[in-house]
Amino acid sequence: MSSAVDPEERALRPKKLDEFIGNRPFLPNLRVYIEAARDRREPLDHVLFYGPPGLGKTTLAHIIASEMGTNLITTSGPALQRPADLAGILTRLEKGDVLFIDEIHRLHPAVEEFLYSAMEDFRIDIVLDSGPHARTLQLRLKPFTLVGATTRIGLLTAPLVARFGITIHVDYYTKEELSQIILRSAELLGLMITPEAALAIAQRSRGTPRTANRLLRRVRDFAQVEKRSHIDLAFAEKVLTAMQIDPAGLEDIDKRFLQTLIDRFGGGPTGIQTLAVAIGEEAETLEEVYEPYLIMEGLIERTPRGRRALPRAYSHLGRVRPSASSLFDT
Ligand code: ADP
Repeated sequence: MSSAVDPEERALRPKKLDEFIGNRPFLPNLRVYIEAARDRREPLDHVLFYGPPGLGKTTLAHIIASEMGTNLITTSGPALQRPADLAGILTRLEKGDVLFIDEIHRLHPAVEEFLYSAMEDFRIDIVLDSGPHARTLQLRLKPFTLVGATTRIGLLTAPLVARFGITIHVDYYTKEELSQIILRSAELLGLMITPEAALAIAQRSRGTPRTANRLLRRVRDFAQVEKRSHIDLAFAEKVLTAMQIDPAGLEDIDKRFLQTLIDRFGGGPTGIQTLAVAIGEEAETLEEVYEPYLIMEGLIERTPRGRRALPRAYSHLGRVRPSASSLFDT
């Protein structure tokens, strides 16, 4: 997940809004919100980022802190086991600090409830002792910005979502945007690469900057071993073929999804729960992490009766699509 920090990935992370690549529809507004808050010398309103992994949610949290000139404190839903874990972090925040909670959909309900008053009124109630002598101590916090990130917005409770003043959907990138990201990363890594080679890598990056950077680093490994000073289209394609990267950038679970739908369920429509059991994945993960890309690529569609494989999925897997007449023949 996004909290797994690979040092080289960190080095490629844009640090300012201007370095954040892509014509993302939310960028102009986010820029205004940051500038306005900075001018008022107030912390930015709480921000929730949602969307598939590897699209820049953590990067944006870092950018917000850096643009606001404050500290970023990073934690994650599963790391906060008890309200006391969160209290320890909250009470140490300085005015305007950004607290980033990754995988916020995995917060324990008791921790989540504890967060409500912290977000709303910048105060927390700590229960001292228990039983008949229980007392509550109210602590004031310094105003801060909570940045939450999730791949599964559907799992967040309504009261939590309502406490974010800014909610931003981070979506897949186009191949052109990804190739710009690859060109930028290549420069940072001191690699010479042609725009055509960058586009070939971008095409196999499943709309995801993290994947684009990962593939670029693998291509760099090959270039280094083969003592090549620059990467052109022919070399990039040779490496991508040698690595057996799917031409559409599909990963193992994507392929299992399509194979199961076509080979076991005749192409659907099949309910997501049934598919999830057959694939051995959680339905929510399929819905929120894998399906959006398959839909965007025109490989499957969601219908009221379930998921259906589209002609591109058959040709991609090299399967013959049953024609309407052959369905009636049997
Ligand atoms: P997430 O938190 O959504 O899983 P990250 O913020 O960790 O994703 O992004 C993964 C990597 O992709 C980062 O290291 C960063 O280098 C790169 N990246 C993401 N979005 C962009 C972007 N818009 N421009 C340049 N690089 C990006």
